[in-house]
Amino acid sequence: MAKNVTLKINNIPVTVPEGSTILDAARKAHIEIPTLCYLKDVSCVGSCRMCVVEATGARGLVAACVAPVADGMEVRTNTPKCRESRKMTLELLLSKHKKKCLSCERNHNCELQKLSLGYGVDEDRFKGEDFVLPIDDSAPYVVRDNDKCINCMRCVAACRKQNVNAIGPIGRGFNVHVGSAFDMPLFESVCVGCGQCIVACPVGALSERSTVNEVWDALADPVKQVVFFTAPSVRATLGEAFDMPVGTNVEGKMVAAIRRLGPAHVFNMDVTADLTIMEEASELINRIKTEKTMPMFTSCCPAWIKYVEQKYPEYIPNLSTCKSPQAMFGALLKSYWCEKNGINPENLYVVSVIPCTAKKYECHREQLEGDVDAAITTRELARMIKTAGIKFTELPNEEFDNPFATATGGGAIFGATGGVMEAALRTAAHMMDGAFEVLDFPDVRGTNPIKEAVYSVAGKTVRVAVASGLDNAKTILEQLKSGEKQYDFIEIMACPGGCVNGGGQPTLSDSVRNSTELKMARAKALYTSDKHNALRRSSDSPVMDLLYNEYFSFPNSPKSHEILHTSYKEDKRI
Ligand code: SF4
Ligand code: SF4
Ligand code: SF4
Repeated sequence: MAKNVTLKINNIPVTVPEGSTILDAARKAHIEIPTLCYLKDVSCVGSCRMCVVEATGARGLVAACVAPVADGMEVRTNTPKCRESRKMTLELLLSKHKKKCLSCERNHNCELQKLSLGYGVDEDRFKGEDFVLPIDDSAPYVVRDNDKCINCMRCVAACRKQNVNAIGPIGRGFNVHVGSAFDMPLFESVCVGCGQCIVACPVGALSERSTVNEVWDALADPVKQVVFFTAPSVRATLGEAFDMPVGTNVEGKMVAAIRRLGPAHVFNMDVTADLTIMEEASELINRIKTEKTMPMFTSCCPAWIKYVEQKYPEYIPNLSTCKSPQAMFGALLKSYWCEKNGINPENLYVVSVIPCTAKKYECHREQLEGDVDAAITTRELARMIKTAGIKFTELPNEEFDNPFATATGGGAIFGATGGVMEAALRTAAHMMDGAFEVLDFPDVRGTNPIKEAVYSVAGKTVRVAVASGLDNAKTILEQLKSGEKQYDFIEIMACPGGCVNGGGQPTLSDSVRNSTELKMARAKALYTSDKHNALRRSSDSPVMDLLYNEYFSFPNSPKSHEILHTSYKEDKRI
């Protein structure tokens, strides 16, 4: 057991495990030390010097995020020396920062702005050499404006943590900037579009490639019928953009707000999460029976798909052929819905609201082109709601539109790591053995990076694994390749914790991110919704009965393969 250490922070005694940093100890004493390059679970390098403090036994100021505590240590976090140093750091950062606060989407939500205000920084004290870098908007999901970058390298750490390493520091001295190898456009690099770099960035240097203007245009077009649908995890995070507590489920207000933007319908993407499960569970059963191309991998995360196509093409046959719930919904609306309602698919404009930047890229995949017209992130939806003057917190709770309103708890938990697996197990086990009634699979829940379980269904042993974060996906793939592990079914989500922690989710302040178990709190909102849903297994959904009776006949039918399934191909990158 780790030994404890007692020290004083601003005269407050605090006891923490040996090996803790001064930043950890200060947090325990309810004292916040400002940070910039530090981000919990992502980056801890002590390079920006914002978190400097005075501590006994140390010569000069020390960076609290990396300095270890010692027994009897006395730390001062707000001495004139600390404050002067932090102020100077901010002035130097601002000397080459493009100050476009008024039009920056991080205005009022920017760590640099917040700290500058707090330290009374004169933004023009130093004037750096003009060094104008081109904006990289080559990718349909991430835009990089390096003139707003403060070189904190949090994005580089986030990308390295994902085991993608698409970006890194380039150049020396004053010319250091972040970019892809050889300064190539991001879209030509190995980037998979997960957007973890965006949510790690403390300023407005990284953002999603916005399609909000196209959506406004479609809403104003008298010929277009605009339909919105929202992904499972958006209801668990949208409230954060309106200062509601992390983990608040705002489904009813979200529907009401979107309705006030003026689309023809607001639908529930949990419905196509259920549809994915119907198709994927039956695909899994077929593979188990025929013992062909096992294990099977889930396919609902486009960043994971891109990762396999680029780095592990030998596993392409193992990917489920099911489209993601987003692409399924788009395809369903442009086929079944248009046919049923006599709508010309060219006049139907489909907007998906997603927690994800990779799903913006997915809309441009040649195999899925035309399914969805615009994919907007939770952040973009929040901006639209604010721009439209809709008083989000005052809205009543409203319901999704039929026939795509009712979904099961299995659809709701798609937004959390392990959710797709649990939903698939509920339905697949019941399809294999009609007497199998288990609905809870706690072994695959929670935020552990890799989870494993073995189940016995209808005389078959089913070995499953769940991983979130591409570094953990790599571990599983390498273990499979070496023969160290064998599984039948594997769920992978690119973002650590799954879509609740996606690259399109609201950007919270460092003080919240560094002190909250975000992934857990957001996922809890989805599991609570599942628990209270009378329907928990996708195959029990009345909407599934309707769709299979009226249109697809049965899961994995020729019709469902034509509309709900897709293909993949190797993508060679350097
Ligand atoms: S989107 Fe993901 S893969 Fe691409 S640079 Fe950002 S963190 Fe790396
Ligand atoms: S883009 Fe953002 S996260 Fe990356 S180095 Fe610049 S300021 Fe830091
Ligand atoms: S885990 Fe979810 S949010 Fe993240 S890239 Fe995959 S689908 Fe998008």
